[in-house]
Amino acid sequence: METERPLRARLDPLHGEDEATRHAFSAWLRATRIPQVRYIALLTAAMYLLYAGIEQTVDADAAGLRVFAHALLVPGMLLAVAAMSLRASLQRWMWALLMIAPVVANAANLHLNAGSPQFLVFAPEIYLSIIWTFTVSGLTLRQASISAGAIVALVIAATVQLPMPTGLVQLHLFWVLAAFSFGVLAAFILERALKATFLQQCELTHSAQIDSLTSLWNRAHIEQRFEEERARAERYGHPFSVILMDIDHFKAVNDTWGHSVGDAVLRQFAELLRQHLRKADAAGRIGGEEFFVLLPQTRADQAVAAARDLQARINAFDFDTVGPRTASFGVTEYRPGESRVDTFDRADRALYAAKKNGRDRIDAR
Ligand code: GH3
Ligand code: MG
Ligand code: MG
Repeated sequence: METERPLRARLDPLHGEDEATRHAFSAWLRATRIPQVRYIALLTAAMYLLYAGIEQTVDADAAGLRVFAHALLVPGMLLAVAAMSLRASLQRWMWALLMIAPVVANAANLHLNAGSPQFLVFAPEIYLSIIWTFTVSGLTLRQASISAGAIVALVIAATVQLPMPTGLVQLHLFWVLAAFSFGVLAAFILERALKATFLQQCELTHSAQIDSLTSLWNRAHIEQRFEEERARAERYGHPFSVILMDIDHFKAVNDTWGHSVGDAVLRQFAELLRQHLRKADAAGRIGGEEFFVLLPQTRADQAVAAARDLQARINAFDFDTVGPRTASFGVTEYRPGESRVDTFDRADRALYAAKKNGRDRIDAR
């Protein structure tokens, strides 16, 4: 039930997730925001140019400084943000500049207008930029909070010394408070929804890669892992090997004890693989009672040794109901330049030979 979840988890869907997941979320969030940042920066730069034109007709004081701030400095920073968004290597700086730009814009506003009787005419830039920072800019909640927090600190520092009636000061600060609280709430709600979506996406991706009976990797994922390993092998020249396994006379298990006992044997077989492989190895069920192990950085002789070890452990295991079982093994090392099908076919031929030669044996080729 919703109410039984701890408050922390309801506020933060990533609460309790490991560091890697949080990191992956941040990276995903920033990556999906890049186009938004680019377009918003361009639009905002255009708005500042328009503003720089209109502003001159309202207050001609410090005209040069106004042009510098609103036609050069702030649009320049925003155009730099848009340009940096195009280069992955510059994106760290892009985020920093995007956080700084609204603070600079507000510092300029306060510097130009805080003492002026017309201050309240220029104050909407402050309120709007706080909302902009939280909900439009593309900054994350954390980044926006730092940026908007700095704006509010500047505004308060500049406002307390204003020669304005107390009521007007209070009204001005009220709008700052309203802008900040709506902004922070909107950004928080959006980020919470994105975290939940991200987690769901991770779970879906994960479940699409898992064999539901044994919880080992499924065929599609094993093929994908093979391709990744193949790319690494082609690039760095690392060897890697595969083991194809098939339980001997498994049909007899189903025929004698029924399908659910057969399923239990498959699960225990999978557990044996899981327990006795290295962390870097990837084990999967690629068909009925056929299993596959991918062994990165492993030559054929080492893979045969691993298969022998597995064979010994399988043969020593007492499966529920059915007792000891055996399996046959086809082992092969990837040969540079060949395709996945080539390697799989060779492992298949090795397995077939192991079966033909009497089962419970390992064939390498
Ligand atoms: P061999 O020693 O030549 O490998 O003989 P085998 O009986 O193991 O080989 P065969 O391929 O003829 O039989 C495989 C059997 O595995 C047939 C099928 O009923 C059974 N099987 C396939 N998938 C599942 C499954 O998910 N659960 C169960 N319980 N049985 C399965
Ligand atoms: Mg079999
Ligand atoms: Mg089979």
